[in-house]
Amino acid sequence: MEKTDIKSLYYKELEELFLAMGEKPFRARQAYRWLHIKHAVSFEQMTDISKELKEKLRNACDITVLRQERVQQSKIDGTRKYLFALGDGNMVESVWMRYHHGNSVCVSSQAGCRMGCRFCASTQGGLLRNLTAAEMLEQVYRIQEDTGERVSHVVVMGMGEPLDNYENFLRFVRLLSDEKGARISQRNITASTCGLVPNIRRLAEERLQITLALSLHAPSQEKRLSLMPVAKKYGLTEVLEACSDYFAKTGRRITYEYSLMGGINDSPQDARQLAGLLKGRGCHVNLIPVNPVEGLDYTQPSLQRVSNFKNILEKYGINVTIRREMGRDIDGACGQLRKRYLKRKAEFV
Ligand code: SAH
Repeated sequence: MEKTDIKSLYYKELEELFLAMGEKPFRARQAYRWLHIKHAVSFEQMTDISKELKEKLRNACDITVLRQERVQQSKIDGTRKYLFALGDGNMVESVWMRYHHGNSVCVSSQAGCRMGCRFCASTQGGLLRNLTAAEMLEQVYRIQEDTGERVSHVVVMGMGEPLDNYENFLRFVRLLSDEKGARISQRNITASTCGLVPNIRRLAEERLQITLALSLHAPSQEKRLSLMPVAKKYGLTEVLEACSDYFAKTGRRITYEYSLMGGINDSPQDARQLAGLLKGRGCHVNLIPVNPVEGLDYTQPSLQRVSNFKNILEKYGINVTIRREMGRDIDGACGQLRKRYLKRKAEFV
C-alpha cells in the first residue's frame, strides 16, 4: 500500500488520520508543528510523540524531504540559488533573495514544464512531472533551515507552470499561509502564470488573497503567439478578460510581467500598444530585461531603451517597475542551474 504523504495534508486531514489511528486530536497538533514549524525530517525527531505512535506513523506515512544538491551564492547581492533533488532524483531550482522588506523565496512548481515559451530555459526538456504540495513547501523550509532566517515572501516563479499543477499548487498556498503552520501571509505570496484561462477563473473563486502575475511579454496576439505557444489556445483578449475578472472578484491587482527582448518586443510602438491594452485596468507592469539563455539568441535591450519603454507606459498612467536583477553572477534565468548541472554533471564545481 502506498504511504500517505504526511506533509501535504491539511491540518484537518491530519487530525482525521490520527483519529482513524485511534489517536487523540492534540497529537495531530504536535505532529503538524514538527512538520511545518520545526521542519522535522524524520519521525524520530518528534520527541513528544510516543514510541508506539512513531512506529505507527512510520508504517503509514512518508515525510517528504528535499536534498540540497548544490547552492551558489552571489557575490554581488547575496542571492542564493539552490538545486534540490526530489525523492525520485528529479532536480528543481529555488532562489533565495534578501530585500529590504524581508527574505523572499522563488519556488518551482513542476520538474520541467510543457508550456514551451521560446525564451525560457525551464521548458526545454519538456515536463517531467508535477511537484507535490510538500515538495513545494520543502523548498521554503530547507532554505529557511539553511539560511537560519525567516522567509516572509514567496513567489511561484521558478520552474514550471503552477496553474498546470492546480490542485497541488492550491494546497501549497493554503498550507504555506496556514496560521497553525508556516504562517506566510497570502498577501506576500505571488504566483505567475503564462495564462491558462480556465484555471485563472477557477483560482478567482478560491477566495485567496495572493497576487496573480500574468506573463504577458507582448502587446498583440500575433507577437505573443510567436513567443508563447499557450496563446494559441487562450488568446490575448480572453486572457486579459480573465485577469480583469480575477481583479473584480478578489480585489487583488494583477501584475503583468513583460520580458524585454531586444528588437522583438521593446520598441516605442510596442510600449504604446501595451499601454493601450492595459490602460485603466488597475494593474502593475513589471519589466524584466530578458535573461539570456544558452543556445537562444534573445538579448537584453540597452538601459536607455528599457527606461524609454518604462517612460512611455508611465505617460499613460501605468504603474511600472523594472525588475532589479538579482544574482546576476550565478546562472541568471530560471532553469539554467539545473540545465547546466544535468549537461555537465562531471565538470560542475
Ligand atoms: N509558468 C509561469 C512561471 C514562469 S517563470 C509563467 O509562465 O508565468 C516566471 C517569469 O519569468 C515568467 O514571466 C516567465 O515568462 C519569465 N521568464 C522565463 N524565462 C525568462 C528569461 N529567459 N528571461 C526573462 N524572463 C523569463
